[in-house]
Amino acid sequence: DAEVVAVGELLFDCVIGGGCLPGGAPANVCSALVKLGNSSCLFGAVGDDEDGHKLIESLDQAGVETTLIQKLEGHPTRRVLVGLKPDGDRVFEGFDGGVNTEFADVYIRPSVDLSEVSTVVVTGTLALAFETSNKAVRSSLEGAKSQGLSTLVDVNWRPVFWENSEADAKAEILHYVNSCADIVKISDDEVKFLLGISPERGLSKPEEVLQAFGDDVTGVLVTAGPKGASFAFRSEGGIKTGVVGGFAVKAVDTTGAGDAFVAGFLSEALAQQSYLPNVSQLKTGEIEKMLQFACATGALTTTAKGAMDAQPTRTQVEEFLKNQ
Ligand code: ATP
Repeated sequence: DAEVVAVGELLFDCVIGGGCLPGGAPANVCSALVKLGNSSCLFGAVGDDEDGHKLIESLDQAGVETTLIQKLEGHPTRRVLVGLKPDGDRVFEGFDGGVNTEFADVYIRPSVDLSEVSTVVVTGTLALAFETSNKAVRSSLEGAKSQGLSTLVDVNWRPVFWENSEADAKAEILHYVNSCADIVKISDDEVKFLLGISPERGLSKPEEVLQAFGDDVTGVLVTAGPKGASFAFRSEGGIKTGVVGGFAVKAVDTTGAGDAFVAGFLSEALAQQSYLPNVSQLKTGEIEKMLQFACATGALTTTAKGAMDAQPTRTQVEEFLKNQ
């Protein structure tokens, strides 16, 4: 069994004018977790093609459990085209093959009982953009929730994936998060898009973000790029909140910073509580420390090209934090 199962895409991020590197948010989280000393498994789908085989091989080499990755004939593995800005921030430009290509991840089959694999599920929202993957991922997550697994959902808003209107996408994502997530990871930009809340001094008010979701969402982690992150958790004594400042690093490529952040948070959470909603019972200072670890993991990941290459080990994160 793996400590965490991630559900969703494994693909190539192709930097315009550069090369293609393995990516996809759930795959990035898996790889970062292994680097931090945890075990992880990916439930996803690639094409039965050269790209698909290469991606599975690279995850195998990274130490991620790959037996639940479906190789689907007749559908290509997805390639995302990414533009990099001078500060390392990136923009999604589209897909190799075009928006309407029937990529393999869209056709993932819901053949897995996640409770047989792990007790913690992490996923994003890209699969919701397509009818077939929407059904598959939704039923997996609803099944997981009903069996008592705990879940973290990364909002991961990528307009380029969606063919339907922004209003429909918003409604779909909100409904999914409210029915499937124990903990939500959301960036400041996504807070604005999804909830209409504008950040103050560059950071959203986390309690306002938490209250904008349904009562079944126990906690939110709100990231703000180089500015750091904040959190809010519902507990019996009220809402616990905290803010952690960002760490100064020379960012080269921010792809996957949020995914590494998620892995850092999960790694710390799992050391204390394997049932994620119980994080809310920890002291505010303890949750702050978990977020600090997550921010350091995210920051270090930006220091080299690609989503996975600069993911740090636990020792590297601890050394980095000691030197601050
Ligand atoms: P992505 O979707 O690209 O993986 P995200 O938008 O979900 O990222 P960010 O807020 O960009 O998430 O980054 C997550 C965390 O990583 C931040 O909270 C911060 O701690 C760290 N981080 C990201 N970019 C930088 C940066 N340029 N410098 C320092 N830390 C950073």
